[in-house]
Amino acid sequence: MVTHAFYELLKQFFSDPATNLFPVKNHPGSVHGTLKKVEQGKAKLNPPVEVPPGFRGKILYDREACIGCQMCIKVCPSMAIEFIPEGRKVKFYMARCTFCALCNDICPKKCIRMSDTFIMANTDKYGKDMIVLDSGHFVKDEKKEEKAPERPSPAPKPPVKAAA
Ligand code: SF4
Ligand code: SF4
Repeated sequence: MVTHAFYELLKQFFSDPATNLFPVKNHPGSVHGTLKKVEQGKAKLNPPVEVPPGFRGKILYDREACIGCQMCIKVCPSMAIEFIPEGRKVKFYMARCTFCALCNDICPKKCIRMSDTFIMANTDKYGKDMIVLDSGHFVKDEKKEEKAPERPSPAPKPPVKAAA
């Protein structure tokens, strides 16, 4: 008698895989070795699945736009953000982050964002890739935006000739 489980099993044999083949199409002998080869340009990553809109991945931080108000630290439930008194900036420990995006919502300068990056596996939780210090400047400078562009001064009119 063909059971439901057997029918499901048979169906799986002829279905496309539900998971993304990552990081390469065929199971590598060593994932670390494969990632090294990718770094050296000797292998290519199988692109990960597209992330849906609103996905909350690794944090992006516009250090230049940050005013050091520490609101993000106050709301972070994971104690993943640390204040740096010199320069009044913050840093993010991704190994502690729970990707709730509360820091994004509270930041008055909108200088924290969640990116699409979800590949963060690391053997060192305090490694360079696991701490976000500065992701470049992405916040628009409102003062510059508000400043009206300078108009070129009109060309002087030619003198009016007197009638003969
Ligand atoms: S996303 Fe949430 S857990 Fe991560 S740093 Fe921001 S507030 Fe903390
Ligand atoms: S809330 Fe925004 S501006 Fe304030 S310290 Fe955090 S990142 Fe900087």
